[in-house]
Amino acid sequence: MKIILLGPPGAGKGTQAQSISKRFQIPHISTGDIFRKNIADGTELGTLAKGYMDKGLLVPDEVTIRMVKGRLSEPDCENGYLLDGFPRTVYQADELGKMLAAEGEAVDTALLIQVPRDFIIDRMTGRRVCPSCGASYHLVYNPPMVKDTCDVCGTKVIQRKDDSIDTVVDRLDIYDRQTEPLIEYYLAKGILRVVDGTQAIPVVFESIVKLLGSKE
Ligand code: ADP
Ligand code: ADP
Ligand code: ZN
Repeated sequence: MKIILLGPPGAGKGTQAQSISKRFQIPHISTGDIFRKNIADGTELGTLAKGYMDKGLLVPDEVTIRMVKGRLSEPDCENGYLLDGFPRTVYQADELGKMLAAEGEAVDTALLIQVPRDFIIDRMTGRRVCPSCGASYHLVYNPPMVKDTCDVCGTKVIQRKDDSIDTVVDRLDIYDRQTEPLIEYYLAKGILRVVDGTQAIPVVFESIVKLLGSKE
């Protein structure tokens, strides 16, 4: 089972990915999380990525693709995976497709979490994340059980630097120009599925399970 999550920043990809990964027993691969981990560890890749991320720009395709190829070749990806935040450009999608085709494989489902623009700013500016495990929370819609503390690992949650209002606006603009075309791209391939992301978190998850359930 190879799944891609599509949707604007703030759609709920990371939130749903955590539950999907658990339910279907496939690794959740978030390129944003991998970049943030590299920044925290002070690696060369992290230093390079930070310059782009802080400005809300995409990390260059070649760098991102190399990193993803490395990750997908790890043993836990043998029975499938859930990609969150990748591909983000048509070029990345083509490269992923070529890589899989070389092994006689393909993406099974591109799952679009559809959320209109008016929901997004509110979601992103209220987002809090765990710097340790990547879990995503919201001040109002999904607060941790203990104030400011990650439910999963107990670390103090933080606000991402790129979730400030100015950067959010830039990221949405980049999404429209570079990532949104992927909806047409996967529609044309016949593997696009759409869920309504405006419902409550568990309701969205149930819609996703219904959609993916038939794929098991
Ligand atoms: P993405 O990974 O697509 O950028 P996240 O999963 O981090 O999005 O969600 C963005 C913010 O919106 C987080 O603060 C999250 O808690 C909140 N959120 C996610 N899904 C919903 C939902 N269905 N209803 C309300 N808030 C949500
Ligand atoms: P969000 O959860 O809001 O959609 P992510 O955590 O997925 O954000 O990504 C944060 C930042 O990491 C992006 O704004 C971008 O700078 C970088 N990034 C993540 N994935 C990619 C990718 N596939 N290609 C290029 N840059 C990426
Ligand atoms: Zn955590």
